[in-house]
Amino acid sequence: MERKLTCIVCPLGCELVVTIEDNNVIKVCGNTCKRGEVYAKNECTCPKRTVTSTAMCDNGSLVSVKTDSPIPKEKIYECMQIINSVTVKLPVAVGDIIVKDVFGSNIVATQNRS
Ligand code: SF4
Repeated sequence: MERKLTCIVCPLGCELVVTIEDNNVIKVCGNTCKRGEVYAKNECTCPKRTVTSTAMCDNGSLVSVKTDSPIPKEKIYECMQIINSVTVKLPVAVGDIIVKDVFGSNIVATQNRS
């Protein structure tokens, strides 16, 4: 089986061709660097994404947040529900953990709010 992907690891966006052989060996072509090969193999076995969003603060304003590492793609909806359910106590600084251990990642603030 052959699958075409665009690498999303950096802005170069290499076009990748992934070949999955009968014995589940995955071969990757078109990548300019090793990160593209790793991305393609993960995308074909356990796709993950970094989630970015906003969370409500206790004064009614919003603060931007993200997962500090990629989470399984099929958990994005549940992750968004968790983000939407929290109220962030101000003040908050970039990197502060808003919610711990969400599908193997933490939700962290990506901006300062006071
Ligand atoms: S393969 Fe490497 S150079 Fe190409 S888009 Fe992916 S990370 Fe960037």
